Amino acid sequence: MNYLRRRLSDSTFISNLPNGYISDLQRPDPTQPPPPQVSSAKSPTSVGPAPPATSPGSERKAQPSQSTGGSFFSSITNVVKQTAASAGLVEQTQVTTSKKFKILLVIDEPSQEWAKLLRGKKVYGDYDLKVEQAEFKEINVVANANGTCTVNMQVLRSGTKVVRSFKPDFVLIRQHAFSMTQNEDFRNLIIGLQYGGVPSINSLESIYNLCDKPWAFAQLINTHRKLGAEKFPLIEQTFYPNYKEMVSMPTFPVVVKIGHAHSGIGKVKVDNHTKFQDIASVVALTQTYTTTEPLIDSKYDIRIQKIGNDYKAYMRTSISGNWKTNTGSAMLEQVAMTDRYKLWVDTCSEIFGGLDICAIKAIHGKDGKDYITEVVGSSMPLVGEHQAEDRQLIADMVLDRMNLIAEKQANAPPRPTTIQPSQGTGLKGKTDGEPMKDPPNSCLQYILDCNGVAVGPKPVQAN
Ligand code: ATP
Repeated sequence: MNYLRRRLSDSTFISNLPNGYISDLQRPDPTQPPPPQVSSAKSPTSVGPAPPATSPGSERKAQPSQSTGGSFFSSITNVVKQTAASAGLVEQTQVTTSKKFKILLVIDEPSQEWAKLLRGKKVYGDYDLKVEQAEFKEINVVANANGTCTVNMQVLRSGTKVVRSFKPDFVLIRQHAFSMTQNEDFRNLIIGLQYGGVPSINSLESIYNLCDKPWAFAQLINTHRKLGAEKFPLIEQTFYPNYKEMVSMPTFPVVVKIGHAHSGIGKVKVDNHTKFQDIASVVALTQTYTTTEPLIDSKYDIRIQKIGNDYKAYMRTSISGNWKTNTGSAMLEQVAMTDRYKLWVDTCSEIFGGLDICAIKAIHGKDGKDYITEVVGSSMPLVGEHQAEDRQLIADMVLDRMNLIAEKQANAPPRPTTIQPSQGTGLKGKTDGEPMKDPPNSCLQYILDCNGVAVGPKPVQAN
C-alpha cells in the first residue's frame, strides 16, 4: 500500500496511466469471486478444514473475504482519489488552468438585461467578462474569513430553473436591499458580500447605511449644518423611534413617513391632531420608527442624479393631482443642471465613503423654495428618456472599476511567505497591531488584499 501511495503521489506516474485507469478504479468494486475455501457446497457457517497455509489469525481475517476484498480495493481507490486530487487530476480545469474570466454579479430584475450591455467585454485586456444576474430573493451567499465568497443562485429563466454557484469578482446592486414592504430584508446578503470582500458599486458599506432612511437623513443634516440653509435647503423633519413618542404636536398638515419603504408606501398626509393619533396607533403595530415633515404645497418634485461624472436633473409634476407625485400619473421633464443642484448632489455623493451612483430628491414649493427630502443610492430607479444611456453609463463605470482592480492585482508585489510586523501593507492598522480605524477606506484595500494585491491573506489581528 505504501508503495502504491508513493507511486500515486508521483504525478508523472499518474499522468502516464492509461486512459480510464483511474475511472475504472473508481467504479463500484466488482463482486469478488469467492475464495476457494468457501466455494465448497458447505454453508458459510460451517467450519471447513483450514487450508494448510492459513493461520488461525488469518482465518479470522479471511472470513469476511468479500468485504476484505472490497475494502482493499476501496483503499486503493481512496488513495488514487486523494492522490489524483493532490496531483490536480480531479477538477483539472479549476486547479491547473489559470482563471481567464471575471464574474460580475448584477442584482437586478430580469427585465434589465445587463449581459447584453456588457457582451464581448474584456477586463484588463485578458479576462472575459461573465455576467450573472439575479434578484436578491434568488441568491444566497457563503463567505469565509479568508476572503472567499460563494454566491449560490437559483433563477427561473423562460420556465427553466437555472442553478449556479460561483465566486463573484464584482457586484452591481440595483435593487433595494431593504424594504419593510413584504419583509424584503436582504441586509444579511449585503453582510455576506462584505464579509467575503466582494468589491461593489455602490460600496456595500453605503448600501447598508442607506437601508434606514432616517439614518441617511442624519447625513443630510450634517451637510445642511456645513453648507447652511441657503445652499442646502433641507426639509424640517422630526424622528420618532417608536409610536410612544408620537404625542408631541407637530404643526399640521404633516406628512408621516413610517419605517423604511419605497414608491410612496408608508407615507401618509395628516391634517389634524385626531388623525395623527390614529396614525400613531397604526405605527404601534409596525414596531418601527417614523418621521414627520411639514406638507409642502408642492409645485413639482426635483430629482438630481449623478452616475459617475454624469449629471442629470428632472422635474416631476403630478397630473392626477395626488400629493405624492410618484403615485398616479405625473409628467417628467429633464431640466438644466445648475451649480446649485450640482452642489447638492456632489456633496451627497460623498456620504458613507462615497456613492458612485446617487440621486437627491427635493420638492419645489409654490412658495418658490426648495426642500431637500432624501438621498438615494445605486438602487435608484432610472427615469426619463435617457434610461438606456444611464444604464450604459453604469455598465461602463462597473467595467472601469473592474479593470482598475484587475490592474492593481496584476501589478501587486508577490506575496511574501511570512508577514513581517515591521513591513507596511498600506492598510491602516493592519501590520502595526492596531485595530482598523477607518473601515470604509480600508475596505477596498482589504478586498484587493483578498484577491492578492496586498500582503497577507487576512488582516493581522491586534494582540
Ligand atoms: P420613492 O421610492 O419613489 O423614492 P418614497 O417611498 O421614498 O418614494 P417619498 O419620495 O418620500 O417616498 O414621497 C413620495 C412622494 O410624496 C414624493 O415624490 C413627493 O411628491 C411627495 N412628498 C413626500 N414628502 C412630502 C412633503 N413633505 N410634502 C409634500 N409632498 C411630499
